[in-house]
Amino acid sequence: MERIGFIGLGIMGKPMARNLLKAGYPLVVYNRSRPAMEALAAEGATLAESPKAVAQQTDVVISCVSDSPDVEAVALGSNGIIEGAQPGSLYIDMSTIAPATARNVYTTLKAKGIDALDAPVSGGDIGAIQGTLSIMVGGDEPAFQRSLPILQAMGKNIVYIGEAGAGQVTKACNQIVVALTVQAVAEALTLAKQSGVDVARVREALMGGFAQSRILDVHGKRILEGDFQPGFKLNLHRKDMNIVLQTGRETGVPLLGSAQVTTLMDALIAQGKGDLDNSALASLYELLAGIN
Ligand code: NAP
Repeated sequence: MERIGFIGLGIMGKPMARNLLKAGYPLVVYNRSRPAMEALAAEGATLAESPKAVAQQTDVVISCVSDSPDVEAVALGSNGIIEGAQPGSLYIDMSTIAPATARNVYTTLKAKGIDALDAPVSGGDIGAIQGTLSIMVGGDEPAFQRSLPILQAMGKNIVYIGEAGAGQVTKACNQIVVALTVQAVAEALTLAKQSGVDVARVREALMGGFAQSRILDVHGKRILEGDFQPGFKLNLHRKDMNIVLQTGRETGVPLLGSAQVTTLMDALIAQGKGDLDNSALASLYELLAGIN
């Protein structure tokens, strides 16, 4: 079995790393702050002091950190993976970052004989815990084939998309659909509420027809209950929409809906609501409609 390293033990990374341990992989972990590492050490993981030290002890290194600069620091920075990894090793980044950054990481590591895949995920903390994530992968196909048994310990729907960066492009597309669908659900349920009809029954009726979606199900329920505990924080979704808009500019594609929903997210974040779930968009609609 390949020796695996895991860097970034946050809401997503910790349960993903745990699933690798459960699948029997020897695991070396690093987290910037100490408590998350110690929790996994108690379950059988070996601790390392830096991304470089993780790479020195393993064949495959996985990261799940916050944003593009964080991946650059972990992979290419001082004490980074690039300083510890042997030629022939594999790096899999599962964070959501800019496709351009993923391509840069791939090219820089490739020059050292290290393979790299961008493999962002969808499915949230629940998918990470249950090992049912959807994983979208970019990079060289032989590297993807090598990664497959490892990714299968963390996800169910694992799709090879194409060359480096293609996984992150797919994730950007995913985040457009999620953002605009959350907006549509928030808008529709606000109209129902202001019209004086039973909002729960509206959602129930929509769930059986063409408007059915997982977001109408999960986020619709949160909106009905006014429960905006995350979930997926608005701040993180805003970070992803920045990647979406940047990719749109780089490719010359006007992303009208994305620009609009991002502005709504900005308004909520300006009100200090960035740590709420992205379904809190409904609270902005209610404010605009004069609903208390
Ligand atoms: P999180 O709970 O905030 O965890 C982020 C992790 O990255 C932490 O372990 C943090 O270390 C580490 N980190 C951040 N910057 C770092 C740096 N410069 N160097 C080293 N470590 C660093 O976030 P999350 O929800 O797990 O999300 C992780 C990634 O998955 C993000 O790209 C996110 O967009 C994506 N994602 C999240 C979800 C979701 O539902 N949460 C779903 C799909 C994809 P510390 O503990 O020291 O802060």
